[in-house]
Amino acid sequence: MSASAAEVVVRVSVEQGESFAAAATEDSLLRAALRAGIGFPHECSVGGCGACRFELLGGEVEDLWPEAPGLSERDRKRGKRLACQSRLRGDVRVKVRCDDSYRPVMSPRRQAFVLRQREMITHDMAELSFEAEDAVTFLPGQYALLYLPGVQGTRAYSMSNVADGSGLLQFIVRRTPDGKGTGVLVEGLAIGQRITIDGPYGHAYLREQVERPIVCIAGGSGLAPMLSVARRAAATMTKVPIDFFFGCRDASDLCADTFLKALPGFGDRLRLHNVVSEPAGDDWYGATGWVHDEVDRVIGDQAVAREFYFAGPPLMIESLQALLMVRRKVDFRQIHFDRFV
Ligand SMILES: Cc1cc2nc3c(=O)[nH]c(=O)nc-3n(C[C@H](O)[C@H](O)[C@H](O)COP(=O)(O)OP(=O)(O)OC[C@H]3O[C@@H](n4cnc5c(N)ncnc54)[C@H](O)[C@@H]3O)c2cc1C
Repeated sequence: MSASAAEVVVRVSVEQGESFAAAATEDSLLRAALRAGIGFPHECSVGGCGACRFELLGGEVEDLWPEAPGLSERDRKRGKRLACQSRLRGDVRVKVRCDDSYRPVMSPRRQAFVLRQREMITHDMAELSFEAEDAVTFLPGQYALLYLPGVQGTRAYSMSNVADGSGLLQFIVRRTPDGKGTGVLVEGLAIGQRITIDGPYGHAYLREQVERPIVCIAGGSGLAPMLSVARRAAATMTKVPIDFFFGCRDASDLCADTFLKALPGFGDRLRLHNVVSEPAGDDWYGATGWVHDEVDRVIGDQAVAREFYFAGPPLMIESLQALLMVRRKVDFRQIHFDRFV
């Protein structure tokens, strides 16, 4: 990692692990570790999940969000901290169990992007296209952290496009009621406005070397990373069938076919299964209920021979974990997911 003249470089020593240099000005401990190629445990990177808990054995950090929901009261009493919400103030010694499975597959990079286009794709979901001067690299299924004007902390959004040698990043953002980040993204940012984006992050990326039939399951705005996975798999894994499940509340939320029907094999090798949980009127004749129940109905005991990718709200993730890992005994190495906390 190189540091500019303005950056203060500090040393992080991991007890019984590697030590590394980090730029103290901007980065959280977590992002500094990942930029240095360290397998620091993490999942959401935005204070919600608690996967990056650590103990501070020496030195000082600034707590960026003391009320972050990723730490319980018990954690706080035991002196635990979140690496994604700890900014380095000087050299530190930390206790955390690093693991190779968390090593970043691509080194994350922070750079400036310009908002080029924004289009509403349903009543509450927008597709946004940002462009950087340099080409961007990421794997299908990964996410980035967006710095938004007037919003405290960063927000995680998954790329919906695939890296193609250009500087394009596309996101599908669902406007959440009273949400600060989505307010800026869906209504506030002007076309041509510049923001900083840091990425890529995440482990739920497409495993192209695995030839098992693919199952993508998207809940709401979980559509974005699943679209990226399906786009790449449809283009390059030409012998692999893809079942794409899209779960949403009512028929006005349906939109996956707008994107998927442009892909090779749509309706044949690539099958879309829409599932509506609360149909509002009489105009819905398709599958109704929870998306995980429909996955079980369609895939059933074939699950052990499939590669699963899924993204969406925590309840959907938990239901799928229970279905696949506990009931259907799918090997955890065949399951890749992001929880939108
Ligand atoms: C890995 C991942 C990928 C995601 N991908 C998508 C996607 O593709 N599309 C999509 O629509 N949504 C996605 N989300 C959800 C998204 O990150 C936001 O949580 C959601 O859009 C609501 O944001 P908001 O700012 O409008 O809501 P708010 O309620 O204002 O903020 C909620 C989010 O902000 C963080 N936060 C709140 N306060 C602070 C603070 N003081 N300091 C730091 N952080 C704070 C929370 O941890 C939470 O992530 C993803 C989430 C994760 C974890």
